Amino acid sequence: MAYQHHFTDGETWIHGLGKVVCIGRNYVEHIRELNNATPTEPLLFIKPASAVVPMAEPIALPDHLSQDVHYETELAILIGKPLSRADAAQAKEAIAGLGLALDLTLRDVQSQLKDKGQPWEKAKSFDGALPLSSFVRFDPATDLQQLGLRLTINGEVRQDGSTAEMINPVLPLLAYISQYFSLQPGDVVITGTPAGVGPLKSGDELSVELDTLLKVETRVK
Ligand code: ZN
Repeated sequence: MAYQHHFTDGETWIHGLGKVVCIGRNYVEHIRELNNATPTEPLLFIKPASAVVPMAEPIALPDHLSQDVHYETELAILIGKPLSRADAAQAKEAIAGLGLALDLTLRDVQSQLKDKGQPWEKAKSFDGALPLSSFVRFDPATDLQQLGLRLTINGEVRQDGSTAEMINPVLPLLAYISQYFSLQPGDVVITGTPAGVGPLKSGDELSVELDTLLKVETRVK
């Protein structure tokens, strides 16, 4: 069945998922761990709706494509109003919810694509490449740049970062994205991963947390 947005209070969001806009290299420590250059402008890519699956359901690894599937824990923003060539204030008005995403990446495939200077879609936009949580309704009083992001695998903390470490904060990032791509209600923006990325293995038990707002328990098939 196609993925459908839900809020944590159980309500189904009327708007379907159109696209997911993603930013690469938005946390300094993660750039260092992969020996990447720091971009001078946001590095954007898109995951189609066909890549999205509910995070709470067991995660299937695409064994036929890769033997090195990495997790990247990210803050996800659910868009509630159309945004086109917007400013940061308009971007804030358009946020409907906050959630968690795992930006699954075929690291071996991505390395080959990077070496050839080719687009990343095969490594990041395959079926199942974006487990997405339910969304907490956005409270405008929430400080978007003071949210903890944590991933625990088999009881061991693997990622433990804060949105305070973002190079491009959420609101200017949404405004920047909207210069290129109109965001529609139901679209999602994922905002980059802190350090600590690594491979997923069959049977891994995951706990993914967005500060005190949201916690998802899931596992790898
Ligand atoms: Zn990512």
